[in-house]
Amino acid sequence: MKKKIVLVGNGMAGVSCIEQLLKLAPNRYEITIFGSEPHPNYNRILLSSVLAGDAGMNDIVMNDWSWYEEHNITLHTGHTVTHIDKERKTVRTDMGITAEYDELILATGSLPFMLPLPGADKEGVIAFRDIKDCKAMMEAAKTYKKAVVIGGGLLGLEAARGLLNLHMDVSVVHINEYLMNLQLDRTASHMLQLELEKQGMKFLLKKNTETILGKKRVSGLRFTDGSEVEADLVVMAVGIRPNVALAKSSGIAINRGIVVNDYLETSVPGIYSIGECAEHRGVAYGLVAPLYEQGAVLAKRLAGVETAGYQGSVVSTKLKVSGVDVFSAGEYADKPETRAVRVQDDFEGIYKKVVIRDGKIIGAVLFGDISDGSRLFAMIRNGEDVTGKEKTVLLGESGTPAKSGAELIAAMSDDEVVCGCNGVSKGAIVQAIQEKGCSSVGEIKACTKASASCGGCKPLVADVLTYVLGAEGVKTVKEGMCGCTPLGRDEVVESIRSMRLTTSKEVMNVLEWSNPEGCSKCRPALNYYLGMVWPEEHADERESRFVNERNHANIQKDGTYSVVPRMYGGVTTPKDLKRIAEIAEKYEVPLVKMTGGQRIDLLGIKKEDLPGMWADLDMPSGYAYGKSLRTVKTCVGSTFCRFGTQDAMGMGIQLEKKFERLNTPAKVKMAVSGCPRNCAEATIKDFGVVAIDGGWELHIGGNGGTKLRGTDLLCKVKTEEEVLEWSGAFLQYYRETGKYNERTAEWIERIGLEQVKAALAAKEDRDALNGRIDKTLDLMKDPWKEIIEQQELRQTFVPMEEQSAESII
Ligand SMILES: Cc1cc2nc3c(=O)[nH]c(=O)nc-3n(C[C@H](O)[C@H](O)[C@H](O)COP(=O)(O)OP(=O)(O)OC[C@H]3O[C@@H](n4cnc5c(N)ncnc54)[C@H](O)[C@@H]3O)c2cc1C
Ligand code: SF4
Repeated sequence: MKKKIVLVGNGMAGVSCIEQLLKLAPNRYEITIFGSEPHPNYNRILLSSVLAGDAGMNDIVMNDWSWYEEHNITLHTGHTVTHIDKERKTVRTDMGITAEYDELILATGSLPFMLPLPGADKEGVIAFRDIKDCKAMMEAAKTYKKAVVIGGGLLGLEAARGLLNLHMDVSVVHINEYLMNLQLDRTASHMLQLELEKQGMKFLLKKNTETILGKKRVSGLRFTDGSEVEADLVVMAVGIRPNVALAKSSGIAINRGIVVNDYLETSVPGIYSIGECAEHRGVAYGLVAPLYEQGAVLAKRLAGVETAGYQGSVVSTKLKVSGVDVFSAGEYADKPETRAVRVQDDFEGIYKKVVIRDGKIIGAVLFGDISDGSRLFAMIRNGEDVTGKEKTVLLGESGTPAKSGAELIAAMSDDEVVCGCNGVSKGAIVQAIQEKGCSSVGEIKACTKASASCGGCKPLVADVLTYVLGAEGVKTVKEGMCGCTPLGRDEVVESIRSMRLTTSKEVMNVLEWSNPEGCSKCRPALNYYLGMVWPEEHADERESRFVNERNHANIQKDGTYSVVPRMYGGVTTPKDLKRIAEIAEKYEVPLVKMTGGQRIDLLGIKKEDLPGMWADLDMPSGYAYGKSLRTVKTCVGSTFCRFGTQDAMGMGIQLEKKFERLNTPAKVKMAVSGCPRNCAEATIKDFGVVAIDGGWELHIGGNGGTKLRGTDLLCKVKTEEEVLEWSGAFLQYYRETGKYNERTAEWIERIGLEQVKAALAAKEDRDALNGRIDKTLDLMKDPWKEIIEQQELRQTFVPMEEQSAESII
């Protein structure tokens, strides 16, 4: 006769354990499952996607009714187990059903923590935990407009994003100074806030709710500082508590959760516990990956398969908010005994931090680009020793590259979960590749569900593929511009032209973006392409730009900005220098520095001082922050130099005056040298001009940054007019064919020098290109001047605390 197993809790952890058990010992047990919710097992993680409109209720069912039938499982949904008789080994539900067990698994999950505030029982105050809550929010959004989410953690922000998608006006109240303060450091948190504000979310930070206002239904919140916010829907997302009521009333040892050992055994023989309700070595987890690991260990135990037991988990978090890439794993905070490697790129809105203790990586925070997440997470889990090559972990290093993803995969055990959302292990993916012939991430997704939910594990799935098949065996599938569309850059630009699309929203709608808001990769790119194709019709979408381009200054690591005024050709005057010096004194500028591009950088400026400083300077913006022409470096040329054959300064000034403010796919640097000695280093610039006897050489595609590249010679010309003609044609051709964020060096490598030469060879083609660039240049205005002149734009530089309460709330 089969032994009887009863599972209490039809949720993610419990059912995943049963799935494993059925694989290991299909005929060993007669299985009964009780679940309080009236649904089959569904993917709770994806409630955020349901709320955001990215998935329907049916899409998130993991095991439908037929699955239970097929496996001869007796399922009682809508039944809450209220009593365990340990002597008789039976359980009883609130509906009066009794079931016998030989082995009993408690997987009762968590309960959302509801703040015990006066008014918390009012209509319109809900949690975000299950399908019922999700439906309540969707229903409320049909009638009400103002939502407040209490809690700026992962769950709160996902709820807020969903409510925004339901067209509600959403404010997030957070008691801490920083969002997601349990997973992120200040820098990442600040970047996250800026990004979410851009999406329309409002924040009330450092606010402690005192009372929920309203009569029958909620009408607002009052905080301990006396301030209030209006609300007709309040979502509490302030944490969870292990659901231990049943265990407690049955005399099973509990602490915060149900106490279990490495084999998931509770204090009572024959009773086990897994999932959010269980506490192992003092930790009750709140994410699925560890719960699946627990389930896999328990399944082995129950199937009689040898196991070393559950050893605890390192967890990683990924925020499922479209357009925002955030990853956090392990111990992210700086401590006296830790050191960190940090990379921050304000142009791209990217921040990466790896925390190291005793030579081992113990934590990581990534913002903007989370492609390193799975590799770093594997290193954290494997306790990888990086002593002596700490920097290469983030930066890489020629000669001693950091371990590849595939090498790290080799160190993972088959049980380790790769896709946390769907509980797919490395072993299952390897099996799909070896036994079912999967050879692309898409095929693995279709076969195993790995990467089918939040998509965060895609790089890790790709690493498993490379590990099993080698790089040559992996099918490469055409990549879209970003995860929101399968269309590449050329197809998108072509559609913008042929369908006369003039706004990002239109592009996303018409071209059926999977994510209607776009992401941090496609939004700025679309803004650029639209402006390039339709310079007159397209209104610049400021909110799509990265912070530096929005504020027209470079943000520094301490949150201050740097100001670089234009100095055409690197030439200045005593009058300008005096003014700069006076302004540096007036604003107590902590650092004045000469840049590599021959101009003056005023560093350490407060955001609120920027408009005033620009007005006092009365000089054009140097665009040191933008994807635009930066500088034209010059030597003194024939004006002073004994060797000079041409007027390098004059030529440089003309070029800079002509092309300043031009939007380009990536930054553009130019230089003009007065003779082949090339003192202005023109042959490592995007466009370099070198004087020769009787004319000029024009060089293109150089780069002096991380990937050094010498220029290619484009052609030789005789006159200054020809230099201007060829440079205009070249820049416009790059603008029209370059991918957003692609420097000319990469662009030339991609499309080939011959194609560029061919495109510019005919005079009529150069004239046409110049016609188009001139049209764009005619429309460009100095952004500093615009901000000085327009009160509405200046307002964005006023600190939050000085803005009126109305404008903040
Ligand atoms: C909106 C949202 C987004 C999330 N996003 C992520 C994410 O991105 N990544 C991640 O890793 N995790 C995420 N989580 C957390 C994740 O969903 C949980 O960790 C996971 O669902 C917990 O699984 P569990 O089986 O322990 O509990 P649950 O899934 O809660 O299942 C427990 C079930 O037991 C039932 N039950 C309780 N008591 C009884 C009883 N006495 N009798 C019968 N039935 C009972 C409950 O009704 C419930 O259905 C998210 C959670 C939410 C709510
Ligand atoms: S490049 Fe030639 S002209 Fe210019 S400074 Fe050097 S030597 Fe003089």
